[in-house]
Amino acid sequence: MSSPKPAYDVILVGGGSAGCVLASRLTENAEVRVLLLEAGSARLPESVAHPPAWPSLVASEAAWGDSTVVQRASGAPVPLPRGRGLGGSSAINAMVFARGHRTSYDSWSAHGARGWTFDDLLPYFQRTETAVSGAPGRGTGGPLTVGPAQQPNEVLTACLDAAVEAGHRRAFDISGGLEEGFAPVDLNIVGGRRQSAADAYLAPALGRPNLDVVTGATAHRLLFEGRRCVGVEYGAGGRTHTAAAGREVVLTAGSIGSALILQRSGIGSEDDLRQAGVDVRHALPGVGRNLHDHPRANLVHQTRQPVPAASHNHGEILGLLRSTPAADGPDVQLIFIDIPLPNPVAPVRNGFTIGVSPMRPASRGSLRISSADPYAAPVIDPRYFTEEEDLRAVLSGIAAAREIARSPALAGWGIEEVAPGPAAADETSIADYARRYFGSYCHPVGTCMMGDDEVSVVDSALRVHGLDGLRVADASVIPAIPSNNTNATVYAIAERAADLLARS
Ligand SMILES: Cc1cc2nc3c(=O)[nH]c(=O)nc-3n(C[C@H](O)[C@H](O)[C@H](O)COP(=O)(O)OP(=O)(O)OC[C@H]3O[C@@H](n4cnc5c(N)ncnc54)[C@H](O)[C@@H]3O)c2cc1C
Repeated sequence: MSSPKPAYDVILVGGGSAGCVLASRLTENAEVRVLLLEAGSARLPESVAHPPAWPSLVASEAAWGDSTVVQRASGAPVPLPRGRGLGGSSAINAMVFARGHRTSYDSWSAHGARGWTFDDLLPYFQRTETAVSGAPGRGTGGPLTVGPAQQPNEVLTACLDAAVEAGHRRAFDISGGLEEGFAPVDLNIVGGRRQSAADAYLAPALGRPNLDVVTGATAHRLLFEGRRCVGVEYGAGGRTHTAAAGREVVLTAGSIGSALILQRSGIGSEDDLRQAGVDVRHALPGVGRNLHDHPRANLVHQTRQPVPAASHNHGEILGLLRSTPAADGPDVQLIFIDIPLPNPVAPVRNGFTIGVSPMRPASRGSLRISSADPYAAPVIDPRYFTEEEDLRAVLSGIAAAREIARSPALAGWGIEEVAPGPAAADETSIADYARRYFGSYCHPVGTCMMGDDEVSVVDSALRVHGLDGLRVADASVIPAIPSNNTNATVYAIAERAADLLARS
């Protein structure tokens, strides 16, 4: 083993959405010395910058290549991509930038998290962004420049018109967390190029003498003196290294990475750890529990009119709906996508897709290490659609999508629904299609849940229960998934974490 590196004040483990925010914000104070460790590379494929190319990235070196275990709903494993490299998932994602609807943060207090309502998060949402829409409640001076596509694909604009014809509300700012209905969503695209967390936050901080970034560095486990976390053991360049933290270690390795690092360090459910051959350092049964995600079913349409080539992120317009009038907020998202996604019925060369996703799924799964080996594949089981209400929400969304597709604004496009197709006319066959052929919307959260009960992992200040000098600050702390794509929420959590660290 090499000799320990000089101590840092804070070590951040994982250079994704949250890690880049924290590296940047913490080093604004020249007195704080920060080390950022990232398993992936600093040099990502050229196509990362080119928005329409993002679907190809999930099978590139910028992704980990994970899949779930076989899901009971579909009888098959489900690919669950996550980013690997500076920027993390923000470097390979679909660039939709949207807060959850304000109502979806209300349940964050259910396990005891205090001070994390939408109103509490609002200053941090605003701090992240310069929103070109200038909509009420949006930020004006943050590192991320966000706005809707200037000229959305014509087929998507027709879908928006069709949604309004079908009786849905035309929203002004569907990214702001205050509205329901349909509108162009803000995107992380600036001047035609992706703006990742590494672009917006990390790049401007890289010249600071108090920030070291080590890429190709996989955190193996955390180092302890008694109950205090004092550093990290990591692998880089074929060797094992250690780095010492004077104040804190902050896990920002994402919903999959952070829980796995805790488990490899002997922090987790005693059964899970013993099964993997890891000695129990600190029993914390919630680690890896509460894994949940947005599953998404796709309605694939063929059109007679040629759909113009994509020039943005493919999904420029979306809507938030309630599956039932009794819902206390929107719980279904429809996203209009300007390409026909692969489908199980018949190949489609020219067309578009309507993605339908339950935004507040009740199904909960788990994540665990398969062994103490830091390079072994994890056991990921989101248990999609194990709760019937998630299926009911999707069925309601599919009914809304079909009504929109029948509206006059889309008539001129010569539409035919190929998948599931007209044969899926009754609820049973539509439900069967959704269950068998859904995919992950790539929004896993919740594996290091915030709260103060026996299933929570971090407290309201993101400190790991029962240990000192250790926090988690990324998508894994989210107790219940917000009702929109997750990245904007992760940025806000990380901004708040930077504040919490600065004050401690
Ligand atoms: C394909 C895809 C499409 C998506 N589309 C959207 C979208 O359009 N809009 C949206 O809002 N959200 C989207 N998301 C989700 C969103 O990007 C994530 O919720 C968000 O980026 C999570 O941030 P994070 O900081 O928690 O984790 P990440 O950004 O994933 O960062 C974790 C980092 O930690 C590193 N790491 C992990 N383990 C270790 C280790 N042991 N040692 C060192 N480093 C480690 C990883 O390599 C990674 O860089 C998408 C995600 C994917 C994968």
